[in-house]
Amino acid sequence: MKYFDYAATTPPHPDVIRTMTEIMEAQYGNPSSIHGYGERAHQLLRRARSGCAAAINVKPAEIVFTSGATESNNLAIKGAALRYQSRGKHIITTATEHASVYESFVQLQQWGWEVTWLPVDSDGLVSAQQLMDAIKSDTVLVSLMHVNNETGAVHPIAEIGARLKKEAPKVLFHVDGVQGFGKMEAKPEAWGADLYSLSAHKIRGPKGAGLLYVRSGVELTPLLSGGSQEQGLRAGTENVPLLVGMAKAMRLAAERQADFARRTTILRDRIMEVIDTIPGLVLNSRKEGAPHIVHFSYPGMKAEVALHTLEQLGVTVSTQSACSSRSAEPSRVLLAMGRDNACAAGGLRISLGDEHTEEDVILLEQALHQMVAQLRPLERR
Ligand code: PMP
Repeated sequence: MKYFDYAATTPPHPDVIRTMTEIMEAQYGNPSSIHGYGERAHQLLRRARSGCAAAINVKPAEIVFTSGATESNNLAIKGAALRYQSRGKHIITTATEHASVYESFVQLQQWGWEVTWLPVDSDGLVSAQQLMDAIKSDTVLVSLMHVNNETGAVHPIAEIGARLKKEAPKVLFHVDGVQGFGKMEAKPEAWGADLYSLSAHKIRGPKGAGLLYVRSGVELTPLLSGGSQEQGLRAGTENVPLLVGMAKAMRLAAERQADFARRTTILRDRIMEVIDTIPGLVLNSRKEGAPHIVHFSYPGMKAEVALHTLEQLGVTVSTQSACSSRSAEPSRVLLAMGRDNACAAGGLRISLGDEHTEEDVILLEQALHQMVAQLRPLERR
């Protein structure tokens, strides 16, 4: 069986597993304790923070450790909205964000904030001008993902960040960087991002570890009440082994990013070309998108049927994003891109990792051809 669902999660890197296991066995102190066990755990946490900061070129004091990007996104969005509500209660995002951003905005809307949901074009993109036109005098926050987790569409983050800093410097800019880091250049500070979320398990680190970059000077209202860990922004005993594992995974991902992009782009382009030649399949990703994601629709077929057929043929892909794939609803992202219900309900995502080879892609190609041949008689017309 070949796994093509790296955008959902990745196999932890052996070096990451080894490091985490060693720490779990030997360094179980609480980093807040003042005895030797605590001090050693504190040093490990300090080094993990420096390592994560170095991988994205920011200062260690600007890193807040979390349990993953869902928490980072919630803290960034609700924390900023609550902290700066006296400045205004207008916030902006797009219709195609990850559920953790989307639902945070829905909740704020229910709590009385005014939300602008920016529409996207047929490639799933917003333009810098469209975003700037939505800014009002009471806008406090913009949240935009770097790379879309379903289609791989890449937003013009650097251009948007630069325009926000110049034309609306008081508006905070949050970037969900989960699907971009390790795959494309990730420079939150240079982009002008004030808040930037990452998750370890998308880059061969552990599940349950993430971070939020908080530009120095930006304040947030914490969402958890408790101890003063993480500069008071995230109460709770830090998960030292997982965070050290994340630092290691981030270092590896940052070092290998250019090579990853070069290798996966070649494989991705080949997969796109094959899908383009199979009648009945429609590509939803573009070559300008992220190097590791190919999204397509099989409008005549329910996505689950296609997924299980592919699984029987030896390849694992995904329907929608993993977080939404158990829902019966057609993809919110594809509907926002103007696709019809059949396209949105028949969406499949192939996502690549650093271990994939040309032979794997040949296997995938054969499975795609066979899947369509097998399902053709069952297509809805
Ligand atoms: N944002 C994006 C773009 C994602 O792809 C994901 C993971 N599906 C998340 C946020 C949530 O990350 P986590 O699984 O660490 O909560």
